[in-house]
This record gives sequence, structure tokens and C-alpha cells, in this order.
Amino acid sequence: MGTARAMPLLVMKFGGTSVATPDRIKRAAKRVAREIANGYDVICIVSAMAGETNKMVGYVNEIAPFYDAREYDAVVSSGENVTAGLMALTLQEMGIPARSWQGWQVPILTTSAHGSARFIDIPNDNINAKFAEGMKVAVVAGFQGVSKEGRITTLGRGGSDTTAVAFAAAFNAERCDIYTDVDGIYTTDPRITAKARKLDKIAFEEMLELASLGAKVLQTRSVELAMRYGVRLRVLSSFEDNNENAGTLVCAEEDIVESKAVSGVAYSRDEAKLTLIKVEDRPGIAAAIFGPLAEAGVNVDMIVQNISEEGHTDMTFSCPVDQVKRAEKAMNEAKTRGDFAFEDLVADTDVAKVSVVGIGMRSHAGVAAQMFKALSAERINIKVITTSEIKISVLIDRKYMELAVQALHDAFALEKA
Ligand code: ASP
Ligand code: MG
Repeated sequence: MGTARAMPLLVMKFGGTSVATPDRIKRAAKRVAREIANGYDVICIVSAMAGETNKMVGYVNEIAPFYDAREYDAVVSSGENVTAGLMALTLQEMGIPARSWQGWQVPILTTSAHGSARFIDIPNDNINAKFAEGMKVAVVAGFQGVSKEGRITTLGRGGSDTTAVAFAAAFNAERCDIYTDVDGIYTTDPRITAKARKLDKIAFEEMLELASLGAKVLQTRSVELAMRYGVRLRVLSSFEDNNENAGTLVCAEEDIVESKAVSGVAYSRDEAKLTLIKVEDRPGIAAAIFGPLAEAGVNVDMIVQNISEEGHTDMTFSCPVDQVKRAEKAMNEAKTRGDFAFEDLVADTDVAKVSVVGIGMRSHAGVAAQMFKALSAERINIKVITTSEIKISVLIDRKYMELAVQALHDAFALEKA
């Protein structure tokens, strides 16, 4: 963990669109220069220039559809190396002492799970020694590390966010600023309602629950890591002039003084609902159903078991629509094996999930009732309901999804701060 430092430290991460051209790298470098002028040392995490990683993934698949994952990582990690060097050069041209670091040079030690590696250790002595010698910016290639076998690894798409948070934790940074092409996290998707409002602050838990709104902005794992280590994360645009309150701060619940019952409305368009009709109701039946589904790689989300009648019950679950075939196969195979019996398996592939999320639900009563009332006013039928402490989700017909999001956004007055 962080050692005592002369200067406060900031982690600044620039995503692919923010470093897409030499000109944009210069603009990003100017932001770094401003923080240096504010008295910070900076660890600057960079993504590959926009489009580069996709291009390289394409090359790999063209040459070897069943590729050796170690070589996949050797290829796709390289985009970040280019940006790191270019950013260090840009800063040097501006007279700022900067040095680039590839993952293995830090060294960022990860697991050997190529393509989805996880951090094991980020030692800070090498980089801190350079800061002590007067370096002002360590530019670190995001998305990559090195395994104990000495091979280059990558963290999964979007992994530079997670690199940034891990460095903020390892070096005890004051904050981790994620510069991207949107100006923050919104109450809902602005493409669905123009009333969507940028949030000034959002709790880690809410951010994780709002994955459908935030996942394109922040890799989920980066939020989990930030929550675990209490890293204050700020998401902000690299295309605007940002003032003190720019962007959205993703932070601990305690840092949010007053919260409304609902902070945001999330959705997931491509869901399916499957119901096993008349399965025997006996101990072990849920395990017998969901074990094979897990083994088949079906991501089960909602689960509802009906009350039982004459020793039989209906079991309903939801999963992504493109996994329905896999789920049906797993269930029919289990039936053939004699694991359990059921009368029928009914799939509804035209559903969407809409959720209201907010830590304020812990202290506000009646949120569910208000949600159902808003949906009923639009004559939207609810097919499945699930709740957690900070989220209420419903499955509805897909064709009403946008309408439901708009109705709920209005019902909870999310356009108002
Ligand atoms: N360049 C990598 C990707 O596109 C990592 C990142 O940008 O976060 O997935
Ligand atoms: Mg990203």
C-alpha cells in the first residue's frame, strides 16, 4: 500500500476516444499539466487509441480462430504500449518529466488467466523511486500485466478502468479521475428520455446495480475494486472544460449526504423468461435445476418459485435471450437423465427488465407501490418482480420498455436534483 509521499497523488485515466489522435493526446496531456500545476504528482493510465484493440482482436481471429490466449494477450495488449509512449513524449515536449511503464516494468503481477487476468500485486517501489528523483508523471499502459510465468496478460475488455482503480488503491491516490467521452453517469439513458439528468454523486452499490447505464462507461470490476478499497472515482468528459464539480463522483454511501428514494432507472432489453411447469416440489429440486443451468453457462438473473399444489410447483427464471436455447437444452437433458420431471418448459423471449435503483430505498417506504402504480397508469403488465435492498426490478413486454423507463423517470421526478 501507499507510502508517505512529498506530493499528493492523483490517478488520471484516459480512455480510447480521449487519446484517439496525437492532437487528443496533447489535449489530455494539458489536463495532466494542469493537475501538476495544482501541486499533484500524477499516475496517468492510458487506453489504446480508439479502435486499435478491436482491430487487433480482428487480426487475431482472422489468423487463428482458436487462438493461443497467451499470444492473443501479446497482440492486444500492444495498443496501450503505443499510447503510453506517446503520452510520455507529449508531456516531455511540454517540459514535464514523464516516463512510460508497461505492465511488466512496474511489474503489475496478475493471475495467468489470459484475456481475463486479475491483479495479484502492484508494487510501488519502482515508480516511487522515479517520483523521488523528480519524475512528475508515470504514464502506465492500462489493461495489461504479467503472469508469474513471465507472460503478458490482459484484464478483459475495458480493463484500463480497473488498472486505474488498482493504482489509485496501491498508491493511496487522493482520487481516481476517469476521463471519457461522456460527462458523467445519468439517471437513465438520455437516448430514452431527454429528461435524464447527470448525477453529481452516486454510491458504489448504486453504480453496480445501474450496470446497464454505467457498464459502457466503467468496467464493472473497476467499481467493485473501488468499493472494496474506498477509492473515490470521478467520471468526467475529456471533451469539455471541467470545473470543480464536473462529472460524477462514484463514492461511498457515507459521502452522499441526502439521497432520494430512487437515483436511477436501469434497463436490460434482451431478456427472456422461462417457466418449468409442474416440477416436483421436493428438497434438492432448485439445485437440480440451477446446477445444470450454471454448468451450461446460463446467466440466470431473476428466480421465482410459485407456491406448491399437490406436490408440484412452477419455477420461473430469466436469462439473456441469446441463452434460451442453451437453457432449454440443459433442462431437457436433465429431464432425460431423470434428474427431475416437469410437464412443460415455456419460453417468453419478448421481455425486458426495468429496474429502479437507490440507496435511499433503505429509508424510504412505498417505493415499490409507487413504481407499480406508475406502470399500471401506462397499462403495462408486470410479469415478474424481484427486489433487493436498493433495487426493484420488473420483467415486462419488451415493446413497453422505453415507455416504462420514461414513466418511472417521471414518477420519481428524477429530472430534479
Ligand atoms: N483497450 C482495451 C479495450 O478496448 C482496454 C481499455 O480501453 O480499457 O478493451
Ligand atoms: Mg472503457
